[in-house]
Amino acid sequence: MNTLRLGVIGDPIAHTLSPMIHSKMAEHLNISATYTADHVTKAGLGDFVKKAVFEKWAGFNVTIPHKNRIMDFCEELDPYAAKCGAVNTVRICDGRLIGYNTDGDGLYASLKSNDIRVWDSDILLLGAGGAALSVCRKALDAGAKKITVFCRTPEKAIRFQQDARVAVENFSTLAQTKCAENADLIINATPLGMQGMDADFTDVSFLDHTNAAVYDIVYKPEETKLLRESKNRGLRAFNGLGMLVYQAVYAFAIFSGETFDFDGMASYLLKEITKEIYNK
Ligand code: NAP
Repeated sequence: MNTLRLGVIGDPIAHTLSPMIHSKMAEHLNISATYTADHVTKAGLGDFVKKAVFEKWAGFNVTIPHKNRIMDFCEELDPYAAKCGAVNTVRICDGRLIGYNTDGDGLYASLKSNDIRVWDSDILLLGAGGAALSVCRKALDAGAKKITVFCRTPEKAIRFQQDARVAVENFSTLAQTKCAENADLIINATPLGMQGMDADFTDVSFLDHTNAAVYDIVYKPEETKLLRESKNRGLRAFNGLGMLVYQAVYAFAIFSGETFDFDGMASYLLKEITKEIYNK
């Protein structure tokens, strides 16, 4: 096999872990690949696509702010990516771009690996941005019973309300909500508590009367305030590194066309990346 030319594009892009994750995966699978991080602005997206096609890249990952606009350059869209209105993985086949979204599968696999069931579950989803929509669509596809989305601007969350199982509430009511009492799973899909972000959860009393598992898709720091407060209350709590790793595993399978032991690869990568970023 020729060397796979791969990369990730975004703005900003300096702190991405994708080159490290994909390089470790390629090495582990004995596949020759080059994976770079390219700083691409909104204005530069078209030129980047032309370059990637001209240089016969096998594909690339896409992060903020291009997950939506890259769809205009895709000749084909995976149905799940189309439903999410966002693409995080592009495969280039004979000069044609095919768009996928592996975020939902990434989260689902990470939940499953932690014995958290989505089917028939009652979920509280915090945030209504791009990642939240991917999570919501995947949870609905996986048979969630009910999803209550808490967000700052409910009128913007119209794309969440196309399924009768989804209800949208104002984020400011989260502290008083009784929804958590019946919830099986609480997922944070806001950047609250993320390293480098000033804002964090101020009132976590919604955790007081729940037995839900808590999944924070933020992975830096290793333990956010939400996770610490959840653990203090005896709840099972997980950060988003598993989601990050699994979405990369699925992306690499798309790029390379190879099938391999996805769970085995994810647990290998989790150990490796944990050492690198949490200094363990
Ligand atoms: P996004 O599209 O910008 O959405 C962010 C969401 O959080 C929006 O609903 C936003 O509300 C809400 N929000 C922001 N600040 C808030 C605050 N102070 N209080 C309440 N809500 C607030 O971002 P995204 O792409 O969905 O990413 C969200 C987070 O997930 C980021 O931290 C990202 O790094 C992480 N992420 C992790 C993975 C992983 O693999 N683990 C994958 C994707 C994303 P408004 O719409 O009102 O602004």
